[in-house]
Amino acid sequence: MTSSSSTAPASNFLRTIIEQDLANGAYAGKRWSGRPGPASVQQQGGLDAARIRTRFPPEPNGYLHIGHAKSICLNFGLARDFQGACHLRFDDTNPEKEDDEYVNAIIDTVKWLGFTWESQDESNLYYASDYFDYMYGFAQALIRSGNAYVDEQTADQMRATRGTLTEKGTNSPWRDRPAEESLALLQEMRDGKHPDGSLVLRAKIDMASPNMNLRDPALYRIRHAHHHRTGNKWCIYPMYTWAHPVEDALEGITHSVCTLEFEDQRPFYDWILNKLADLGELARPLPHQYEFARLNLSYVVTSKRKLLELVREGYVNGWDDPRLPTLAGLRRRGYTPESIRLFCERLGVSKADSRIDYSVLEQALRDDLDPKADRRVAVLDPLKLVVTNYPEGQSELCHAPRNPHNPEAGQREFPFSRELWIERDDFREDPPKKYFRLFPGNMVRLKYGYVVKCTGCVKNDDGEITEVHVEYLPDTKSGTPGADAVKVKGAITWVSAAHAVQAEIRLYDRLFADPHPDAGDKNFLDALNPDSFQAVQGWIEPGTHADPDSCWQFERLGYFVADRIDSTREKPVINRAVTLKDSWI
Ligand code: ATP
Ligand code: MG
Repeated sequence: MTSSSSTAPASNFLRTIIEQDLANGAYAGKRWSGRPGPASVQQQGGLDAARIRTRFPPEPNGYLHIGHAKSICLNFGLARDFQGACHLRFDDTNPEKEDDEYVNAIIDTVKWLGFTWESQDESNLYYASDYFDYMYGFAQALIRSGNAYVDEQTADQMRATRGTLTEKGTNSPWRDRPAEESLALLQEMRDGKHPDGSLVLRAKIDMASPNMNLRDPALYRIRHAHHHRTGNKWCIYPMYTWAHPVEDALEGITHSVCTLEFEDQRPFYDWILNKLADLGELARPLPHQYEFARLNLSYVVTSKRKLLELVREGYVNGWDDPRLPTLAGLRRRGYTPESIRLFCERLGVSKADSRIDYSVLEQALRDDLDPKADRRVAVLDPLKLVVTNYPEGQSELCHAPRNPHNPEAGQREFPFSRELWIERDDFREDPPKKYFRLFPGNMVRLKYGYVVKCTGCVKNDDGEITEVHVEYLPDTKSGTPGADAVKVKGAITWVSAAHAVQAEIRLYDRLFADPHPDAGDKNFLDALNPDSFQAVQGWIEPGTHADPDSCWQFERLGYFVADRIDSTREKPVINRAVTLKDSWI
């Protein structure tokens, strides 16, 4: 595990549990053969060198989002901090929606976040679909031991006989059929002799259980569907709640961490594992499931279905659109792996559901970039400034720190000349109260340059201001003895028109204008922010190489990154990652 963090990780209830388990030697005798497998395989292995095993188990049916980052940082972080291993497992048991495109994107993203599933001689990258043969064998073992049966009821009948929270369910007429019959029918299901939905393999637990999840839950259903890895080999697929504990146990997972909505499934998780261990199929010690609160972030949607709709219907430009809360989108927007890990650390881990404000994510990015991003000047809404008493064709260098927090990074230099670009908003013909920037008669400092006095402006026939005129005070250059002789209240940024580099600057804002776009029965599409994207032609400080992924703080404006797909040195394309201050409060 590579992610380095300067401070000791904050404690949480999972760390406490793991510390206790390690102190009690709960997993001290666990064997690991170096690969996933049932008891017969693991018993051939030596003692597991990994003190704990966790896993991150995405379903490859979409791109990872910021909520997944919480789970990734948690699971990989626990393994790292307790000298364990964290597996990346593709939970690909649901053929229709899964695809290799997603597998590859997920691998890229977890690596980008700074985590690895490789430790010493082990690569813990797994696919649940590799366990289908084991699962089938385990299902047969459950039938033989009287713990499962093939049900012929229709889906409607099963729903009707399941009971309710206040009423018991009723047993299926097929519940007590001989094991031989169920075994033969399961084989026929597998052989493709039955249509989708006609037969189901169910666990035989208790139709009167107060926990609805224990009322003979389904294990296998028939799906004549092509799978992205196993092709047409299977036409029965395991239910998630049956597959998941089995996957964990085959991989020797010790702490299986999932989100709170699976809490009610834990008894079934334990039932499955204990039955299979009693039958000698799975090795003990068995994995345990623990639940934590998922991340709910304001101003975004994270449901894969909704993200897919935004992408498919063209509300955004692909899965890595910088406005999306996908990790690919955040990356393109300018988020660093460090900022996302910092955000996840700040979230902590708890069992109480809460909603985190989007500004917490933005602040993590500022806090990460502030000490390390080089400063630059850029002008996004350019207005020409003419220094009328500065000779035409002349220029001189001005100096500015690369990063004020880090004097050792040294200085950057850029030219001053007669014609400059400034922000249109830095000039007002009729200034409001407390406006300290340029207006006729006022003096400001051109940051890192001279104090100038505004002498007027030029307008076109439509009355738009096309030029602002100033005179500079030659003895006031920043860094010279005369710099402080003239006191001014405002300082504005600028770039030399003849030297600045033109760039397309993409100004992104929140995709949704509503903090809870999909709360209640709201249609999240109604909450789209119409002003979430704007591209402008701006000017950036000369010498700024917009190689993909380079990032800077543009003074007064925010943190910006060269777009990793579209930017080149010749044609810079730059994204605004985050403004300097929260503009949404
Ligand atoms: P969706 O419901 O949108 O399809 P999912 O939870 O089913 O998402 P998976 O690919 O199954 O997506 O998730 C992989 C892992 O990430 C799971 O262990 C899940 O608990 C975790 N996870 C998903 N969303 C969040 C979230 N918002 N906060 C924390 N963990 C999450
Ligand atoms: Mg899921």
